[in-house]
Amino acid sequence: MSQDCLFCKIAAGKIPATKVYEDDQVVAFRDINPQAPVHVLVIPRQHIATLDDLAPEARAMAGCLLERTAHVARELGLSQAGYRTIINTRGHGGQEVFHIHLHILGGKPMGPMVARG
Ligand code: 5GP
Ligand code: ZN
Repeated sequence: MSQDCLFCKIAAGKIPATKVYEDDQVVAFRDINPQAPVHVLVIPRQHIATLDDLAPEARAMAGCLLERTAHVARELGLSQAGYRTIINTRGHGGQEVFHIHLHILGGKPMGPMVARG
């Protein structure tokens, strides 16, 4: 755990969040500023700042993160209609919280993939 990381604190239950799933490796919770009817963030418990910091040793965890993301989307009832997943990396990627996370966006057609800003 990184002491000054917001998502580490959420994973540890030190900052409240609306969690929709958690196990020993990953935690999923609702985004505080949703960009779609369903907007959930899926994070590993392990602190990794960005996708670029993902080491080969973390491959198993990364596979778990991806598989559990699909599981969470299924549990949220998004699978059949579909949904979008996004990982933002550093400045040009629009990353604001430096603890790797997947966005799940769904509940409406997300439309073509366009940059926001
Ligand atoms: P990023 O831009 O880093 O990919 O996404 C960070 C996301 O975290 C944003 O969508 C933002 O709304 C969300 N977020 C920031 N602070 C909090 C918080 O304290 N709680 C929750 N649940 N989401 C947060
Ligand atoms: Zn962290």
